[in-house]
Amino acid sequence: MDTIAEHYVRLTLAVGQHDPDYVDAYYGPPEWKPGDEKTSLDDLAQRVAALQKDLGPAPASGDDMERLRHQYLTKQLSSMAARLRMLKGERLTFDDEARALYDVTVPSQPESHFQSVLDELEKRFPGSGPLVDRYEAYRLGFVIPKDRLDTVFTAAIGACRERTARYIELPPGESFTVEYVTGKSWSGYNWYQGGFKSLIQVNTDLPIYIDRAVDLACHEGYPGHHVYNALLEKHLVKDRGWKEFAVYPLFSSQSLIAEGTANYGIAVAFPGDERLAYETQVLFPAAGLDPAGARGYYEVQALVEKLAYAGNEAARRYINKEIDAAQAAAWLEKYALMPRARAEQRVRFFDQYRSYVINYNLGKDMVREYIERRAQGDVTKRWQEFERLLSSPRLPSGLE
Ligand SMILES: [Zn+2]
Repeated sequence: MDTIAEHYVRLTLAVGQHDPDYVDAYYGPPEWKPGDEKTSLDDLAQRVAALQKDLGPAPASGDDMERLRHQYLTKQLSSMAARLRMLKGERLTFDDEARALYDVTVPSQPESHFQSVLDELEKRFPGSGPLVDRYEAYRLGFVIPKDRLDTVFTAAIGACRERTARYIELPPGESFTVEYVTGKSWSGYNWYQGGFKSLIQVNTDLPIYIDRAVDLACHEGYPGHHVYNALLEKHLVKDRGWKEFAVYPLFSSQSLIAEGTANYGIAVAFPGDERLAYETQVLFPAAGLDPAGARGYYEVQALVEKLAYAGNEAARRYINKEIDAAQAAAWLEKYALMPRARAEQRVRFFDQYRSYVINYNLGKDMVREYIERRAQGDVTKRWQEFERLLSSPRLPSGLE
């Protein structure tokens, strides 16, 4: 199995030579990195097929973790085969691509669902002109001033870390650095470096609203990506010697677990009213915002959150070439309430990452159902199950 794992890592890195977004993190043996010469896509596809054969069917019995490891390699290799087909120019539909890369069937929501949420929001923001403009005018009152950004993020990261460390034993010496960048299609990114260190980048192209602080601190940091990567490194790479976890191919089924846990991690760290209390007492004052507006703001955000799948619908139509970039941006403005500049940034994200968008919302829902089915509302149990998921090779089809 360790030999197969080594081949898998080498193959992942070789695919990365053709696809600059493919290898999200690698901290395994440096000598496994490919030389300057590229292996052709056809050769890589053949090697993946050969490795799939070597891996063979899953063992019928045995240790749960060993079984998950086998399942993990099986799924990751089939994601890799699909990504290679795409790199060779094959065009998959949005739904076929999501199934092939991320191991899921993406549900579809009708426009009437989004419209009913928009009707609710209309009542909160009565007036003329597009609803997105009225919503944005309100939301601009909750922007973190640029000169307070770092103070607010640092506070939020500290709070998320402290809450996570109460329940999860974090590896010794873990830490990350934050950088502020511009000109990206994403709003935040965690680059895991290995050795329990991350580099987190925050895109400041567009105004950053107050809800972004806790979301980003939890999603990219604690108990999200940083903790996920650090626990995989500790439990699987270091303790068990499973080197395949020292590489993270972005366009693979692992991403649904990564984004799903990162997004659900926000509610794990701040259950019930705890977030509102924290925002009111700490973050709003740190950002120089009036805490009296916090409750109303988060009520509105909870409604807007129900529009999350509108992004999937826009991406589905855009990737299937039913609509063009301008129409996709218009769809996002109308159904996801994104102002034009943000909608355009999102369409650039579709161009770069395609069906990856489903990992955020569908991933979150799948992780929430999996965790809550086990925790039954118990806070300690919720953290235990969350930690177990973050420390295991479990993939989307294993959440059912
Ligand atoms: Zn993420």
